[in-house]
Amino acid sequence: MKLNKLTIKEASQKLAANEITSVELTNACLDRIKEIDGEIKACLIVCEKEALAEAKKADEQRANGKIGDLLGIPYLAKDNILTKGIKTTAGSKILENYIAPYDATVIKKLKQAGAVLLGKTNLDEFAHGASTENSAFSLTHNPLDLTRVPGGSSGGSAAAVAADMCLFALGTDTGGSIRHPASFCGVTGLKPTYGRCSRFGLIAMTSSTDVPGPMTKSVEDAMMVLQVIAGVDKNDATTAKEKIDNYQKLIKKDLNGIKIGLPKEYFIKGVDKGVKQLIEQAIEEFKKIGVKFVEISLPYTKYSIPVYYIITSSEISSNLARFDGIKYGLSISKNDLMDVYLKSRSNGFGPEAKRRIMLGTYALSAGYYDAYYLQAQKVRTKIKKEMDEALEKVDCLLTPTVPHVAFKINAKQDPLKMYLEDIFVTGASLAGLPAISIPCGFDHKLPVGLQLIGKRFDEAILLRLGYNFQKIKK
Ligand code: GLN
Repeated sequence: MKLNKLTIKEASQKLAANEITSVELTNACLDRIKEIDGEIKACLIVCEKEALAEAKKADEQRANGKIGDLLGIPYLAKDNILTKGIKTTAGSKILENYIAPYDATVIKKLKQAGAVLLGKTNLDEFAHGASTENSAFSLTHNPLDLTRVPGGSSGGSAAAVAADMCLFALGTDTGGSIRHPASFCGVTGLKPTYGRCSRFGLIAMTSSTDVPGPMTKSVEDAMMVLQVIAGVDKNDATTAKEKIDNYQKLIKKDLNGIKIGLPKEYFIKGVDKGVKQLIEQAIEEFKKIGVKFVEISLPYTKYSIPVYYIITSSEISSNLARFDGIKYGLSISKNDLMDVYLKSRSNGFGPEAKRRIMLGTYALSAGYYDAYYLQAQKVRTKIKKEMDEALEKVDCLLTPTVPHVAFKINAKQDPLKMYLEDIFVTGASLAGLPAISIPCGFDHKLPVGLQLIGKRFDEAILLRLGYNFQKIKK
């Protein structure tokens, strides 16, 4: 078997047994990127020299007695996560040549664990989108069908994992951006609880929902990455002190007595027949391993798209204000200050970023604030409360991740249609809950994901259910 196809679990066992080296593993991934990324275009930057140096270091550390699941494991990171000395563009022209002076906390943690950074992956500009078509630099293709999108906004990361260019990738999820592309590309994508993993060094989109997380070939691999990147960070006051479970132990427990809620608002007419059937089959498989199901109702679900898009645009309009042509990246005009702002911003931002800046500025402006932003925050509280209450009665919720399989490139030109992609993923984001997308089969040869949403800080139940599900599917 080619080394780049291994899971983290398999590779780490081989590394520990001295059957392979990290340099070999890293070379296998770099070769795969060279072989296939001309077609897929998942990577924006590949840092071959740095990666091989890190791999060599990991091999030396191992020879000197260092151990760890991620020691010597090659990965890719979404290009809105800061990497010291390596370009971070957020998929935007405004940051085309930006090199961050420090690493994001999640990158730092992975470095300390000895993981090897291969490069950076494509995304919708500033993570705004659900197809990766909004990137200023390239169009990423779905490895399972090159005429289709990989989903988004972490589409580059999902495509890279699906095409075995790396052993895992980091994504960010603000309103579904890990889970949506995971579903479209047939990989596992975990959005941790808000506050579980540090946001320090992520290019902020919606600070109240942004979370970094793993995209992997298996649930067990997602668990291994989470174990390393989770935890409180003095640079991010929203990280929680909450204890980090020993996931390794917990996921292997059987599922007897576990109760899952099926929110009826997620099983509606717009869900494709093929997707519905696969979700129903998955439910039957879970039942066979001891899981019980109950139907529940989350009536506020219908507000999650409008609420999410008001809040997200509002926060975006504020977060993107820092790109002013002075502090970072692109700077056009040497005339007066206003001209620098205007020219740099109008040339630097793409159409979707501009749309959100305008929507958000409107929703936050005097006279409209109460009607839009404040109202959306009130409804958000309702959504959160409703989900928390439902999760008092069940261990987690199960839904489709997306109502359909990956769509054709250019098929969704209308922004509102694109926003509707997020119908099943924004609820957990607004409520700050952990959620995972796991592949559950193929509809017309394209992957379908099922979503599990858990209680705050209970990533363990999602991993445990997912791990047991993948064990029986093998
Ligand atoms: N599709 C969502 C949006 O466009 C996803 C964003 C995200 O999670 N980064 O806002």
